[in-house]
Amino acid sequence: MDSLKETCHACRASGGPLSRLSLGKDFFGRPYDRLSDQNPQWYCASCSMHKNLQRDFRDIHAEFDKLRAGQGSELSQGDTFQRASLRLHEILTILSGPQQLSPFLQRPDVARLMEQLTTCTVPV
Ligand SMILES: [Zn+2]
Repeated sequence: MDSLKETCHACRASGGPLSRLSLGKDFFGRPYDRLSDQNPQWYCASCSMHKNLQRDFRDIHAEFDKLRAGQGSELSQGDTFQRASLRLHEILTILSGPQQLSPFLQRPDVARLMEQLTTCTVPV
């Protein structure tokens, strides 16, 4: 065991159980880039939860940018769009909870994206 694994990569907490961020599918069911797997990072329970929120937020944000730019986007499907706004709502709720300061995500950023999503007309 090397010492890098003993502290959380984000908050530097030590002593608790750490988990390696599991790489699987992203929010839209696409496999993650293998490159990011070459440098595994270890997080405590709280940070890995927030890291997952950040990844979903980033995925949704990227697809929303494509949608607005008129490019092909996962969000052009109504039910996926719906699922994405629900997820954003969920993320915002978690970030609004007590002691849920995320080392990765700013609540106003999530709120802004959600607002943009809400006011966006879903192309059919
Ligand atoms: Zn941590």
